[in-house]
Amino acid sequence: MMDAVELLQRLVELESPTGDGERMGHIGRFIAAELEALGARIERRDPHLIARLGPDDGPPLVLMAHMDTVWPAGTLPAMPFHVKDGYAWGPGALDMKAGIVTGLEALRRLGEQPRPVHFLVTADEEIGSPTGRPLVEELSAGARAALVLEPPVKDGTITTTRSGLARYQLHIRGRAAHAGNGARAGVSAVDELAHQIIAVHGMADPAAGIRTNVGQVGGGTGDNVVAGEAWARIDARAWTVEGQRTLESSIRGLRPRLDGAAIEITGGVTRPPMMQTAGAAELVRSAIAIARDTGIDLAENASPGGSDGNFAAAVGTPVIDGLGPTGSGAHAVDERVSLESLGERISLLSALLVAL
Ligand SMILES: [Zn+2]
Repeated sequence: MMDAVELLQRLVELESPTGDGERMGHIGRFIAAELEALGARIERRDPHLIARLGPDDGPPLVLMAHMDTVWPAGTLPAMPFHVKDGYAWGPGALDMKAGIVTGLEALRRLGEQPRPVHFLVTADEEIGSPTGRPLVEELSAGARAALVLEPPVKDGTITTTRSGLARYQLHIRGRAAHAGNGARAGVSAVDELAHQIIAVHGMADPAAGIRTNVGQVGGGTGDNVVAGEAWARIDARAWTVEGQRTLESSIRGLRPRLDGAAIEITGGVTRPPMMQTAGAAELVRSAIAIARDTGIDLAENASPGGSDGNFAAAVGTPVIDGLGPTGSGAHAVDERVSLESLGERISLLSALLVAL
């Protein structure tokens, strides 16, 4: 039988950039075969994958992972899978092929499932789950709990709260003119943009969990032209639905500072916040108690990032996220996952599947 590290190597070496249908087909078939060997009934919803284990009755526990990565095909030669210093290195090793391994190995350890367990493996989480989202919502609705196998924020923790995310595009129209006539000859969209960037960053309130970032900007057509157009792309985060609404109305309320400039805002919320409901808090208390009985100390943590856990929570299902192993360098060339943590997380998930 393939052990966990070998399984991780196979998954990392099956490159799976989001949107690559052929490669997603390969890794999807590989994961489906692993699940079928564990007795799962497989439903392909290409490019995604649903596996059902155990009896058919009663609300299931839903495991969630994504098989897509941010790494383009052909990354492996520069970042080959290898094990060094207690870590497994490679593209997607941490985010989140080790999470898939955690799910598979926990199920393998348990053998026959006494209760219904559904395992959803999606293929477009890294671009915001445009087609995975309805499946996350469908499987979460009516589930006992959703257990998301993303990496935790830090070692020894699970993620019980996540920020809501929004993306906005700001488009500014000024009036182009010859620069030789001075900026006053036209209306500089780039000048207007500068004001708006300061305004957007001024909306941040880190203590309240409100974060804004103008991450990309552009504008103008030449050094000697007063810019007629400019644009910015904005990332906006808040811990609560209320915070998201306030932030949205501030962003939509942006007004031009320069006479003759016009502003257009598009975009909106991409992930609702994953908030702590009473049901989720109870689930978390049980999970921490079960972990303690297994000899694992577990603490709660909040993540400023989003995952499919946000969508599961938004349909009212209690969610525990960050159940995958820890590591570092997600989306970076030094991406690696701790093998000690991988072992611990397999034990933890096995215990949760039995006792939760
Ligand atoms: Zn991920």
